[in-house]
Amino acid sequence: MRGLNIAIAGCGPCGLAAALLLHRAGHQVTLFERFDTPRPIGSGLMIQPTGMAVLDQLGMLDDVLRRGSRIDRLFGKAEDRVVLDVHYAALRHRAMFGIGIHRASLFAILHEAVQRAGITVHTGRTLVDSEPVGAQRALRFADGETSIPYD
Ligand SMILES: Cc1cc2nc3c(=O)[nH]c(=O)nc-3n(C[C@H](O)[C@H](O)[C@H](O)COP(=O)(O)OP(=O)(O)OC[C@H]3O[C@@H](n4cnc5c(N)ncnc54)[C@H](O)[C@@H]3O)c2cc1C
Repeated sequence: MRGLNIAIAGCGPCGLAAALLLHRAGHQVTLFERFDTPRPIGSGLMIQPTGMAVLDQLGMLDDVLRRGSRIDRLFGKAEDRVVLDVHYAALRHRAMFGIGIHRASLFAILHEAVQRAGITVHTGRTLVDSEPVGAQRALRFADGETSIPYD
């Protein structure tokens, strides 16, 4: 399964992380993003232990921890009523916590790594469909153009 030619739609955190993991696994990866410049959407983000495991595998967890804030407990009150009280410590397997981070910080860490890896990012490309070409598929874009076939 090495050496596949893989296209990924979208430069969000998932697209960028998937691109890095596939690139490191020996595949040829190309990202297609509809925005003219890749950029984060929204403001804050809370990363859970599953997301942290992926960032750890990518060697980026320390960087994310430096730019984010550790969350050990979520506590919410509406007037004088407690509506949310969740402790990560209640997950007894091991020390667990969340990370609160600005999307721009997470995006910058992942996007810089994609650039360093030399992964190609085509911007201004909105995917609308794909069509079979033998065992592969070609991507169709909003402007009517079609890509080379990808695995
Ligand atoms: C108000 C709000 C709060 C949230 N808070 C959290 C939170 O705290 N924690 C959490 O984990 N999640 C949260 N989410 C969900 C969060 O948005 C996702 O977890 C995260 O952004 C998903 O990443 P993604 O890469 O899959 O998608 P996105 O971040 O949405 O990125 C998708 C990318 O694909 C591009 N794209 C889309 N369609 C096309 C197309 N057809 N062709 C080409 N490019 C395309 C977009 O331009 C974008 O760059 C929140 C969502 C909202 C709306």
